[in-house]
Amino acid sequence: MISIEEALGRILSYVDVLPAEQQPLVDALGQVLAADVSSSFDIPPLDNTAMDGYAVRAEDTAGATEDPVQLRVIGELAAGYTFDRTVEPGAAVRIMTGAPVPAGADAIVPFEETDEPFQAAPSGVRRLAAEVKVLKTAETGANIRRAGEDLRAGQVVVPKGTVLRPSEIGVIASVGTAAVKVIRRPVVAVLSTGDELLEPGERRAGARIYDSNAHSVSALVRRYGGVPMMLGIAKDTVEELTAKIHEGLAADLLITSAGVSRGDYDIVKDVLTREGEIDFWTVAMKPGKPLAFGCFQKDGRRIPHIGLPGNPVSAMVAFEIFGRPAMLKMMGKSDWRRPIVRAIAEEHIVNRNDPRLFLARCIVTERDGRYYASPTGAQGSGILTSMMRANALTLIPAEIDVVEPGEEIQVMMLDWSRGEEWGSYLAEGQDSAAAAIGETAASP
Ligand code: AMP
Ligand code: MG
Repeated sequence: MISIEEALGRILSYVDVLPAEQQPLVDALGQVLAADVSSSFDIPPLDNTAMDGYAVRAEDTAGATEDPVQLRVIGELAAGYTFDRTVEPGAAVRIMTGAPVPAGADAIVPFEETDEPFQAAPSGVRRLAAEVKVLKTAETGANIRRAGEDLRAGQVVVPKGTVLRPSEIGVIASVGTAAVKVIRRPVVAVLSTGDELLEPGERRAGARIYDSNAHSVSALVRRYGGVPMMLGIAKDTVEELTAKIHEGLAADLLITSAGVSRGDYDIVKDVLTREGEIDFWTVAMKPGKPLAFGCFQKDGRRIPHIGLPGNPVSAMVAFEIFGRPAMLKMMGKSDWRRPIVRAIAEEHIVNRNDPRLFLARCIVTERDGRYYASPTGAQGSGILTSMMRANALTLIPAEIDVVEPGEEIQVMMLDWSRGEEWGSYLAEGQDSAAAAIGETAASP
């Protein structure tokens, strides 16, 4: 049996960063920038007003606080336009937020500091008044946003290697760039195996069960920024499995589920051994012990393959632990650690006589600045609803047989969802837990 760290290290040693591609901005969300983005101009490009009001010469407003000063209104300026005259002594220009400060003016007096009644007139109805009274002395530069105060021409605004979040995407748009070079998203082939499996939507039959793994795993692939390529179900025959695996070699990563344990029909092992370079491991984790990992070669490319266990919880957990880091590495990300927090166990958690790290599904909530962890009911690796209710996995070392309520444990957060989504999943009698989850304040 090998440790999670060792298994992950081996997997990652076979995973390479993918090449870059050009993406329209919004499509690049979550991808890693492959080239610096710079601005070719200052942002903002011109001195402009931060307020609606009047552009004036500050010196003209001297003493206005004691004795209002009347100025001539020589025009009006909205954002996006420039004023072609100069503001001479005694003059003012009515001006809207974002409009460039006219030549001659060096301060903006907001409407609130003039005698102009603060009300929006229907457009086209209001006539520009010939005069305005300034009620307060303006400082030079008041309410003016300076050219280049955000970014300077030539400056790198988002460096290569940055994971693009909505804020970076906004900044890149603000420098006029519509598409970016980013590390490509991995295409991840997802294949389920087993004679017992039916596609959701097919008619139910006797002892057969619906394929959940392909769907949960493909959804994880999408959540982590990859492109799932759903190959459907392969029957437990050498021919069908071989054919489907070959289809999957068009992808960057191949994920299969089931057929890696010790049963008679676990032919995935046989096919993989023949078609690729494959290892079967037992990993010291519960759930998710049997795991296959290997590589196929096709057209000069190396396609890593992770063979997940068949049980639905094991498949998801093993994907979280091994598939997600592999995908993130392909995407050029350097940090795939999950947030790990210390939480107080709210119930007994038993892991007696098991030499594996116990990744129990649990709900982590926050109350008064402390985290609490409650296991989400029965922990059998076939009980997928235990995963549905969970937002975290416990990290209980093999040496610990029993965790008592009140003891501190480590938990790995899968997400930080707040109460709304969870409330409806909780069993009756857990109202207080539901209320507590609703108060969860943490975010990643
Ligand atoms: P196996 O690894 O083939 O022995 O499968 C272990 C368990 O997982 C069996 O109970 C299978 O029926 C179940 N299983 C395998 N694949 C899937 C799947 N795609 N969806 C749901 N359950 C599955
Ligand atoms: Mg099977």
